[in-house]
Amino acid sequence: PADPELEALQHAEVAALLPEPAAESDKYRRGVVGIAAGSARYPGAAVLAVAGALRGGAGAVRYVGPAGDAVIARFPETLVSDRGPKRAGRVQAWVVGPGAGDDAGTVAEVLAAEVPVLVDADGLRLADAGAVRARTAPTLMTPHAGEAAALLGVSREEVEGARLAAVRELAGRYGAAVLLKGSSTLVAPAGGAGTVRVNPTGTPWLATAGSGDVLSGLAGSLLAAGLSAVDAGSAGAYLHGLAGRFAAQGAPVGARDVAEAVPRAWRDVR
Ligand code: AMP
Ligand code: MG
Repeated sequence: PADPELEALQHAEVAALLPEPAAESDKYRRGVVGIAAGSARYPGAAVLAVAGALRGGAGAVRYVGPAGDAVIARFPETLVSDRGPKRAGRVQAWVVGPGAGDDAGTVAEVLAAEVPVLVDADGLRLADAGAVRARTAPTLMTPHAGEAAALLGVSREEVEGARLAAVRELAGRYGAAVLLKGSSTLVAPAGGAGTVRVNPTGTPWLATAGSGDVLSGLAGSLLAAGLSAVDAGSAGAYLHGLAGRFAAQGAPVGARDVAEAVPRAWRDVR
């Protein structure tokens, strides 16, 4: 991009960010990502977030929420807990919000955790701004334009017409890194000042239900593996966009196909 405030993500830069297990790694050292997502109405969002997380480099995925049966049926490797986030056991980063409905209590509990947190979808609406600002560990918010508009109290068209200003404004208001999804995904650092990264790898075939849920799990897993909020969001968006291209190859795909293409994207970046 010509704008000096914007920096396009590059293959080599993303390659350097991807975690690789050391010879002596165990699953805990690789990171445990907690997924607090899904509801009786939207169990699929939990399954898709877990699908993304399993391909994101953490050593284990822990799920808390009402969709445990659906998650286990599809991904038996998930550690499912029927307790809330606070009592779920060891977690190095949380993803909260996809398909979460109106469960504000879970969102508040996750925001109180002293580990990195990714907030997406319903979690964005339910998150108390003061609670986000009060966090000491990194926070990454991942709205699409409609969600960003709701948070800013403006129209979706206003966000689409000034995406860079919108992502900076949100990052400033919440004191959190913000990933603004869309045809060109932007990632702003906490506070909103400084270089904003632009992801070049997407495809409009990613505009499909559940696609964002996969991204949230994927980026959350990178957070659990130890990447900063901006790096996890950047590498996550880059891999997700590439996975979308590989899965689609010019034909329609579902979000599950995108999740399943993440390993191919990962190998390509490596
Ligand atoms: P969500 O709206 O939460 O399901 O997220 C949609 C995902 O698809 C995000 O990762 C977007 O960046 C991506 N996406 C949506 N529309 C487009 C588009 N036109 N071009 C590229 N990526 C897109
Ligand atoms: Mg979404």
